Amino acid sequence: MGYTLCIIKPDAVSKGYTGKIMDDCIQAGFVIHGIRKVQLTEDQAKSFYKVHEHKPFFRPLIEFMTSGPSVALVLEKEDAVDAFRDIIGKTDAREAEEGSIRHKYGEDNRRNAVHGSDSPENAKKEIAFFFANIDLI
Ligand code: UDP
Repeated sequence: MGYTLCIIKPDAVSKGYTGKIMDDCIQAGFVIHGIRKVQLTEDQAKSFYKVHEHKPFFRPLIEFMTSGPSVALVLEKEDAVDAFRDIIGKTDAREAEEGSIRHKYGEDNRRNAVHGSDSPENAKKEIAFFFANIDLI
């Protein structure tokens, strides 16, 4: 079985989409293996998105990700990373496929409702960023 990290981002949490997104994950065959509501600090957000630190959108991304609570989920499914990226759709919610999570709940290329890990190696690191072993089933 594979695992991936999903973050329901502050835009979606503040609009009340947490339950709908979790249900979409379950209906798509993912098992929720761990769950935590978190308020990212500036340092945590910068560390999580370190790979983007030299991009022009880094500052506004950090402001967005620290603007309110997020919900982190560990999702389990065969080929979880690719399967989850398939159901979330493209980064820019305006270009995401109809029916995808970002299309349904996101707004644009920053406020796009969810994060999904982009490789099994990064999924492992990102899960460890948010969860201790004791938090996982
Ligand atoms: N992002 C942004 N502006 C951009 C591109 C990305 O604010 O022009 C944000 C967006 O929230 C995205 C995150 O930065 O989800 C990480 O970008 P990445 O290219 O890794 O996209 P993802 O893997 O999340 O689809």
